[in-house]
Amino acid sequence: MDSLGCALLPSTCALCGSSLPHLSSVPICEVCWTEFPVQSGDLCSRCGDKLDAPVLAGPTKIGLCRACRLAPPPFVRAVAYGPYQDRMKAAIHALKYDRLHAVARGLGRMLAEAIAQLADEAPTEILVVPVPLHRSKHAERGFNQARSLAFHALAALAKSHPAWKLTQAPRTLMRQRATESQFGLTPRQRRLNVKGAFEVSDPAAVTLKNALIVDDIFTTGATARAAAKTLMEAGAASVWVATLARASRVYGNRHGTSAQFDDAEENFELAGKLPDATLQGSSIYSSYGQSSF
Ligand SMILES: [Zn+2]
Ligand SMILES: [Zn+2]
Repeated sequence: MDSLGCALLPSTCALCGSSLPHLSSVPICEVCWTEFPVQSGDLCSRCGDKLDAPVLAGPTKIGLCRACRLAPPPFVRAVAYGPYQDRMKAAIHALKYDRLHAVARGLGRMLAEAIAQLADEAPTEILVVPVPLHRSKHAERGFNQARSLAFHALAALAKSHPAWKLTQAPRTLMRQRATESQFGLTPRQRRLNVKGAFEVSDPAAVTLKNALIVDDIFTTGATARAAAKTLMEAGAASVWVATLARASRVYGNRHGTSAQFDDAEENFELAGKLPDATLQGSSIYSSYGQSSF
């Protein structure tokens, strides 16, 4: 029983290893909770990607990244709490792979802060749709982290934004087939990999409704694009996206090593929005799981 208790309630911080002052159901120390990185700098006003240089898009002078200018995403806007690095990365791994469910509440509060960035512009009534796992992945992991984070985020938002009608819709979107890692795939193979991955269980439930897709990590945006496209095709009025973390796109590096995203589930490409020639010819897209040069 003692060993079981210790397994459930570690006495050291799961992120920095410092000893916790007392047994806690949340194995992250107070210092670590205050040191999660937050998004900063110039971000794409559409997808939230970092803008390397100020990019002006037409007379409105809204900064858009290259991907959003070439192929506007089917969602209105994507926001994230912070970059996928340091403590954020460690905490998400602790939740997903070490199954430290107690971490979900604190991370859910951060997701709530990300969602709150949309409060002024998003509709007053919105369905919150966690990105689903395929049932084989769900069986393997035992839970869907996106759903867990959404649950805690909505609990926090009910207090901070009581007038905002955010409704959980965890069964709206289904992943109808398992998707392979995008690692090492050509743009065409990636398109095929993500194509048709999602379906809406009951289109009548989303017709003319606004939806907020929620996930733990936004990497290249292909998952968000595919999920948003599915919801829009089912008749949604608008789709928004909020994630806990944002992995910045890696631009080709001078050492010629492969740039990698280490979350295999999120190694997606632009879901077929750009022609292969554009993808292959662009330094921006040259690096996913391939040599940069
Ligand atoms: Zn710590
Ligand atoms: Zn963008």
